[in-house]
Amino acid sequence: MTTLSKGTQIKTLSNYHGGAWAPAKTADLLDVVNPATEELLARVPMSTMLDLDDAVNSAQKAFPAWRRMPPAERAKYLFTFKNLLEKHFEEIARICSMEHGKTLAESRGDLRRGIDCVDVACGIPSMMLGESLEDVGRGVDCVAYRRPLGVFAVIAPFNFPPMVPLWFLPHCIATGNTLVLKPSEQVPLTMQRIFELLDEAGLPPGVVNLVNGGKEIVQGMCEHPLIQGVSFVGSSPVAKFVYETAAKHGKRVQALGGAKNFVVVMPDADLDKSVDVLVESCFGCAGQRCLAGATLIFVGPAYEKFRAPLLDRIKRIKVGNGQDQGVEMGPVISQASKDRILGLIQRGIDEGGELLIDGRKSHGQSKGFFLGPTLFDKVTPDMTLAQEEVFGPVMAWLRVETLDEAMAILEAHPFGNTTSIFTSSGKTARDFAYRAEPSMIGVNVGVAAPMSYFNFGGAKGSMFGDLKAHGKHGIEFYTDRKVVISRWF
Ligand code: NAD
Repeated sequence: MTTLSKGTQIKTLSNYHGGAWAPAKTADLLDVVNPATEELLARVPMSTMLDLDDAVNSAQKAFPAWRRMPPAERAKYLFTFKNLLEKHFEEIARICSMEHGKTLAESRGDLRRGIDCVDVACGIPSMMLGESLEDVGRGVDCVAYRRPLGVFAVIAPFNFPPMVPLWFLPHCIATGNTLVLKPSEQVPLTMQRIFELLDEAGLPPGVVNLVNGGKEIVQGMCEHPLIQGVSFVGSSPVAKFVYETAAKHGKRVQALGGAKNFVVVMPDADLDKSVDVLVESCFGCAGQRCLAGATLIFVGPAYEKFRAPLLDRIKRIKVGNGQDQGVEMGPVISQASKDRILGLIQRGIDEGGELLIDGRKSHGQSKGFFLGPTLFDKVTPDMTLAQEEVFGPVMAWLRVETLDEAMAILEAHPFGNTTSIFTSSGKTARDFAYRAEPSMIGVNVGVAAPMSYFNFGGAKGSMFGDLKAHGKHGIEFYTDRKVVISRWF
């Protein structure tokens, strides 16, 4: 068994299926590196189809008995799991911070949001209730049950190591399905530890299974004949691929994709209360959030009002190892990601943006994949910085004269994950929320992340599928509706 919590030697991570840890059947290993120190933390196997088959077969075998277990009994395992997550809260947050680079506070928030989903799934007996009606015909009654479907696949991105898998796992198994989960190969340690806790929770073998790996496993999951549905979160091109491939193979799919989030700042926005929120929205998690508000649109005099206070606050962001006290922003995930962001900064300069704060060297770190906060003014809607998801600590400022012009920028963009408005006018806020196409909207809120009892997911090119993560959609996605019509003679 992999015990990351004990000892410091470099481990090769294992997969988990049939209620036991097993080495992957491959010699193909990837290094897992602490992005703040470049220290080697572990090696993750790029599992093969044989490994995926083992996991799916275990999940398939576990399904009939798990499905028959009363929902209230299934919930008891989730209560135990929740208690274990609480008991090991700090340890998991540290693992998350170590492998991802985000600060400890951000890691705690990441895990807390994941545990919130376990909390909600503990209420499965009431959430799974169906519908019924007497006398749909004379002496004929009708009952609609929710029934689980079988084995589901969950595929996660790197940016929220505990939270995103936990958006899906609790609802999936609480409804009576079994699951095979693939964490991001860039941050596999958090899920390794969480699966140790699932093992400790005593779930029947095969209910939850873990396969480490990369795109081959993703493709295999989309095509596997025993997998009934796929929950995916990641970039839009991969989300589209997963949606199309899994649908072609007859599966249910919910595929949450990338983002380009505009934040509209009106002249009547509250200056004192908004500056910190705006800065955190962009630079929190070093900008590696699908809800990052990295593109500010100032309407009219809002620009002059906010310019100096924002500049001052951004310059004071403390960059460093996320595990250190007082650090506000950690590194980005990898050298490849840093190089990509550096390329986008260069594009911003080449296309005529005014670089007000240059984070390329201002981070003060000798090792690690660090970038300092970077700020561009005079960005126009056609520029790359207003079009592409940067997924790094880069803020872009656009200026318009009216709210209508700001809305036109939002409408023209192919993505629609989230957007926010900062204003003191209820009418303006209502108008904005009504008209804006993204499906997660903030009013004086920088990161409009729906809580676990609401649905999480975007619109347009940010979401492939119609049922979103957690909330009522989580139950809907993982269940079929079975209608029984009865007449007794
Ligand atoms: P990614 O698309 O590179 O990877 C996501 C998953 O897909 C990983 O498990 C990875 O192994 C796999 N994968 C990568 N390339 C693949 C390919 N070519 N074929 C098949 N599978 C592949 O995303 P990432 O870099 O890990 O995460 C960042 C992205 O995720 C950003 O675009 C961000 O906006 C998005 N995201 C969206 C949400 C949301 O709620 N919409 C939430 C978090 C992250």
